[in-house]
Amino acid sequence: MDFLVSVADFDYLKVIGTGSFGKVFLASHRENGRYYAVKVLQKHIILTRKEERNVMCEHRVLLKTLNHPFLVKLHFSFQTKDRLYLVLDYACGGELFYHLQREGVFGEPRARFYAAEMACALGYLHSLKIVYRDLKPENILLDSAGHVVLTDFGLCKEGMSGRGTTRTFCGTPEYLAPEVLLQKEYDRTVDWWGLGAVLHEMLYGLPPFYNADRLEMLRNIIYQPLVLKPGVSSAARDLLMRLLNRDRAKRLGAKRDLTELQSHPFFSSIHWDELVAKQIPPPYVPLLSGPGDLTNIDPRFTELPVPQSLGACEEYGATFPGFTYINENILSLTRGHEDRILSDQ
Ligand code: ATP
Repeated sequence: MDFLVSVADFDYLKVIGTGSFGKVFLASHRENGRYYAVKVLQKHIILTRKEERNVMCEHRVLLKTLNHPFLVKLHFSFQTKDRLYLVLDYACGGELFYHLQREGVFGEPRARFYAAEMACALGYLHSLKIVYRDLKPENILLDSAGHVVLTDFGLCKEGMSGRGTTRTFCGTPEYLAPEVLLQKEYDRTVDWWGLGAVLHEMLYGLPPFYNADRLEMLRNIIYQPLVLKPGVSSAARDLLMRLLNRDRAKRLGAKRDLTELQSHPFFSSIHWDELVAKQIPPPYVPLLSGPGDLTNIDPRFTELPVPQSLGACEEYGATFPGFTYINENILSLTRGHEDRILSDQ
């Protein structure tokens, strides 16, 4: 049986991002007029690369993490014969690093705010036994108010408890912890290394251990001592040293996870409950003309063509059973159209 919301319910307006399995589009819902980011994955690429498990994992993680303020929300998912569709909140503030590139570095209060929101999101995932693994510039977005939104759960590792470890190699080399590069066992502390790498880039304008020669940089991550230039506070430098500790057992967060980071002096001015309640005004509010605004999206994406075939009602294909989903909150929007809400099971 086929179901509910389908490809034809959206107008696909622009490309707003690209990934390894397909593209992400800004789309508007034809009935309610709302804007969404629709991640469209090509089934044949997933199947050829034997990545079904990662994709279904991303899907399950999105389902599990419906209600965290700093994680992207999944509204619907459906599939056609050739493609999988994930309908997500549109984070219209653009990639955090789009802004960082334009400004060079962020001042400490701004970097602290983003690092604190990212830390909350990571701590929340860890509490669900999920390791994010892929904290990298392209996956940190801003919403319309300027809050952090983490996206892309394709490489998440589910089911890892506090001391669980794994060995799979994946992620962006520049931000990967040394134990991952060395294909040693790793655990949730890889995310605290990733946070350290991102914080370093926000404060200094470059990732830690940076070298224009990529191979040299990977060597540095594994062997070179971390040297931090002056120009940032001692609290920030201390936090970076602790997060970018090569020994994962001694890394900040290894024992009590998020709680350890929260009590570090760099974050002493953060009221964590207010932060999670989004009561702390973001240090920068993206300039936007409306919810479907594309000002903050890199033109190298928006200039790409939108394939006409996207909205076509292709033959339905359940190669990925259990993929189809509708968020309960959306049911209220579709009231009166219950005849369209069926199941793909
Ligand atoms: P990867 O190759 O890193 O696994 P992917 O195929 O999983 O990529 P994503 O990383 O999820 O794709 O998305 C690709 C890009 O699309 C992101 O870097 C981001 O710029 C943009 N993007 C993704 N989700 C959203 C969203 N909800 N709102 C706005 N832009 C988004």
